[in-house]
Amino acid sequence: MQQNVDLSTFRPNPYDGFSGQYIAGVWSAGTEGTVALDHNPYDDAVLAEIAQASLSDLDRAFAAAKAAQIEWARTLPGDRAAVFLRAVSILDARKEEIIGWLIRESGSTRIKAGVEWGAVRAGMLEAATMPAAAQGHIIPVDKPGKEARVYKKPVGVVGVISPWNFPLHLSNRSVAPALALGNAVVLKPSNDTPVTGGLLLAKIYEEAGLPAGVLNVVVGASGVIGDAFSRHPVPRVLTFTGSTPVGRHIAQVAGESSLLKRIGLELGGNAPLVVLDDADLDKAVSAALIGRFMHQGQICMSTNRIIVDASLYDRFVEAYTSAVKAVKYGNPDEPDTLIGPLCNDSQLRSVTTSIARARESGFRECVSGPIAGRVVAPHVFADVTNDSDFARNEIFGPVAPIIRAADEAEAMAFANDTEFGLSSAVFTRNEARGLAFAQRIEAGMTHINDITIQDYPHVMFGGEKNSGLGRFNGKWIVEEFTTDHFISIQR
Ligand code: NAD
Repeated sequence: MQQNVDLSTFRPNPYDGFSGQYIAGVWSAGTEGTVALDHNPYDDAVLAEIAQASLSDLDRAFAAAKAAQIEWARTLPGDRAAVFLRAVSILDARKEEIIGWLIRESGSTRIKAGVEWGAVRAGMLEAATMPAAAQGHIIPVDKPGKEARVYKKPVGVVGVISPWNFPLHLSNRSVAPALALGNAVVLKPSNDTPVTGGLLLAKIYEEAGLPAGVLNVVVGASGVIGDAFSRHPVPRVLTFTGSTPVGRHIAQVAGESSLLKRIGLELGGNAPLVVLDDADLDKAVSAALIGRFMHQGQICMSTNRIIVDASLYDRFVEAYTSAVKAVKYGNPDEPDTLIGPLCNDSQLRSVTTSIARARESGFRECVSGPIAGRVVAPHVFADVTNDSDFARNEIFGPVAPIIRAADEAEAMAFANDTEFGLSSAVFTRNEARGLAFAQRIEAGMTHINDITIQDYPHVMFGGEKNSGLGRFNGKWIVEEFTTDHFISIQR
């Protein structure tokens, strides 16, 4: 499947020196008049100085996308697929460089950066199958001589707003299928990760041969270009991945646009991991550990509540406590570090507030440790009540609440008693019992005997309730990024 890339065309250190915007195929400084420093959250080293985008840069990006989309949509499906196959070759050739950026810019541990690199690669391979997946229909109707056809077409321009936690993957999760289906894209990455969330991705696609203007990246303060981005009349679809409050705001602003648009929202979570009385304790402990502490707990699917049947509760708390005490935290670049730095100071404030809340509530602190810079040692609180603020909010940090449930019915009630409904998990040795339990959980995704963090590029991804609207990946994202056109012929 893969095509070879001529590495001799690469500049010596091409993935350094990012400084601004990528608009209409041109790398240029933003014209807003301010420069934002891009920091390493572990040691505060400055990685890049980004001249911020202005409203006119934003307009230029959408205009470039609109103009470039017409030709791009006419490109043969095999030629569009080839761009993604070349991008995969670039990803392979530059694996260490890309992983290095993820570690430096987003505080990813080496383990998490490797997972993210793999997710991006898989997403690109999946995108290579999509140009041929946009298939229409010919439908019989009750009228002599009438032929009813439904054509599946690209929507036009897609606007993408992405977060900092899995920046390269969560940007690419929208960008790759949107492009593959013949759309053009304007991407606004988080200001915490302008390179891995946007500019580096654009560099990969540029080197893979994507024509100028088909992908544009605008880096700017949300207070300056955010609402104008959401309200802009050019994009026909807007996808947002981030927190629920910002998602609500963006949906509201997008509703004010002079042209109506479709909105996909992938928002926050409060994933329960339920351990039933017949669970394999060791497997549940290790899933609850990885599911809570991978990437410092800053994943929308992170296990936010561990709900354990009373019959196993004491044994679970003891085993979990001793497993968590062995977790390595600190320098994200060391190969066995599981917990690196939080991404920014507002994250740090939010996580320390969660810890303070748990202490004020008198929950049993089984594991605690120092906070050094932005690295927060893992914390575990047991005997947490499901209706406490501590358990009701998305913690987004390395802090694990354990909740005792009297029985399966109470565990189910606790699992569903949340405004969120993204991911979830249940542990039981009885597969049929697990399936029956899973079917009653109000969530977009439920995993039986596995961690709450699961994302495959060809399998549906999405949430219920305040965790979002719409679906990502595979044939689901094909529907989001295409539109149907009924054309009839009378003979
Ligand atoms: P956030 O909502 O603060 O920001 C997300 C993005 O929106 C950033 O790029 C930010 O710059 C931008 N933004 C903020 N205000 C804006 C505005 N007014 N207009 C336009 N853009 C604006 O979220 P975050 O802190 O970056 O990410 C963490 C949150 O994202 C968590 O709640 C997490 O659960 C959620 N998340 C969800 C998924 C999912 O797939 N469901 C995946 C990852 C993260």
